[in-house]
Amino acid sequence: MDQEKVERLVRELLAEIGEDPDREGLLKTPGRVAAALEFLTSGYRADTKRLINGAIFTQETNNMVIARDIEIYSLCEHHMLPFFGRCHIGYISRGGKVFGVSKLARLVDMYSRRLQIQERLTEQIARAIMGAINAEGVGVIIEARHLCMMMRGVEKQNSMMTTSSVLGSFHDSVATRNEFLSLIARPLV
Ligand code: ZN
Repeated sequence: MDQEKVERLVRELLAEIGEDPDREGLLKTPGRVAAALEFLTSGYRADTKRLINGAIFTQETNNMVIARDIEIYSLCEHHMLPFFGRCHIGYISRGGKVFGVSKLARLVDMYSRRLQIQERLTEQIARAIMGAINAEGVGVIIEARHLCMMMRGVEKQNSMMTTSSVLGSFHDSVATRNEFLSLIARPLV
């Protein structure tokens, strides 16, 4: 990403929305926005293969592995506004290949730090896990709130969007899918 070019574009944008890019409070804004965008879209420049390969360990297990409540922050591709929430992942390994838990979170971050729609993000995470360890099955659920819905448009402040992607045995077996859903269900508080 060309930082200086983005700064120039943000300056133009500020002027266009009726601001004075030269007033004191805004002088450093283009630089800050460019740096924030660099980070928030760093998923485009991440080395997917390296991240995934470095995340795999061998551990003999046929049990379902669950990673719950992984925080997600992404930008919707329609408005470039944030959507954020939680991601729940379950998988059953094959041949003892498992993911390091922190690496699952990094995988989620990598796909989140791009312009996304929630459905595709869910699918990409599921397929990446499936492909990387040739899992028997994978399930991914994302629950998120979209600022483009909350701040503008329909202005629905409390709506939560849920998307899921189930592959392999999570797709084919009702029992496996139900086990996944019961494991990620919230405890009664
Ligand atoms: Zn949107």
